[in-house]
Amino acid sequence: MGSLVMPRRKTRQIRVGPVMVGSDAPISVQSMTNTQTRDTAATIQQIHALTSAGCEIVRVAVPEMVDALAIREIKDRITIPVIADIHFDFRLALAAAESGANGLRINPGNIGARHKVKQVADCARSHGIPIRIGVNAGSLEKEIAQRLGTTAAAMKESGLANIRILEDLGFDDIKVSLKASDVARTVEAYQLLAAETDVPFHVGVTEAGGLYAGITKSAIGIGLLLSKGLGDTIRVSLTRDPVEEIRTGYEILRALGLRQRGPEIISCPTCGRCRINLFKIAEDVEKALLERDTQIKVAIMGCVVNGPGEAKEADIGIAGADGTGILFKKGKVFKKVAQDRLVDQLLYEIDKMTKNSEDV
Ligand code: SF4
Repeated sequence: MGSLVMPRRKTRQIRVGPVMVGSDAPISVQSMTNTQTRDTAATIQQIHALTSAGCEIVRVAVPEMVDALAIREIKDRITIPVIADIHFDFRLALAAAESGANGLRINPGNIGARHKVKQVADCARSHGIPIRIGVNAGSLEKEIAQRLGTTAAAMKESGLANIRILEDLGFDDIKVSLKASDVARTVEAYQLLAAETDVPFHVGVTEAGGLYAGITKSAIGIGLLLSKGLGDTIRVSLTRDPVEEIRTGYEILRALGLRQRGPEIISCPTCGRCRINLFKIAEDVEKALLERDTQIKVAIMGCVVNGPGEAKEADIGIAGADGTGILFKKGKVFKKVAQDRLVDQLLYEIDKMTKNSEDV
């Protein structure tokens, strides 16, 4: 795997609350709530669910002042840092920072007069919070779009122009995202910008789509970037419960060997040799292990004849036969159990193994 993933790009490092972003800090996984921020109860509840799934930074939309002010109450009741997502209105950025936001997502090029941008930069500096510049291919500055179209080069140019506005004001606590809804432009834009700045990258493919399209595009887009050493914090975009974004994010990092969180479940696709309802069993096991942060590899295999051998590298696994099932560790059978007890027995053994490893 090492040869597949190029060394990480050297960047400046910034801090979002307690989470370091950039250079050799772990690649962080983030998401965005889809509740109305002013509905603090619903927002807090969603952030708790995201936190349990492993979300490390959460972004909330701040369309109006009431949302900026709600951040104070939200912050009191959650444990992960919050980024306030703001378009255009610098007063919302000031209010969000005053309310305790750990970062602002606002494009200085969209704020307007220089004195307004300066107020936002000064305010962020005095609160010790970074600003994320979020370039989106669909909303590039008119002049850049006219000159270069909505190309990767235009996205890079927009990113650089926004970075310069803040750096000219002496503010360099910045990260940047360059998002398009297609993989090719997204990847090319980040590659172009990487050659010109050491600002850390927030990476993702925007408006990626529903579950299948979204996961596929995100896995390929984010995966390609990470494999080139580009990306310091990631966000998968799905038209779904944001908790799914966090799970997908960790699976991408795991697949590239960059970070591990929770058990790894492998399962066979089944074939004509399978005599049990493996889809249901795999679903039950996945559900039961979802929020455990134990690093264990679990195999769910359809048949006793080939299953244990095919999943030799798993720490523990189950395989089904006619009316019965077996448990195996590292490819070796160690217990026969009734089929309807397979899942319970597997979870029992995993608990035992995890407890033992915690006791060491
Ligand atoms: Fe088929 Fe058995 Fe392999 Fe599953 S483990 S794909 S059921 S041979």
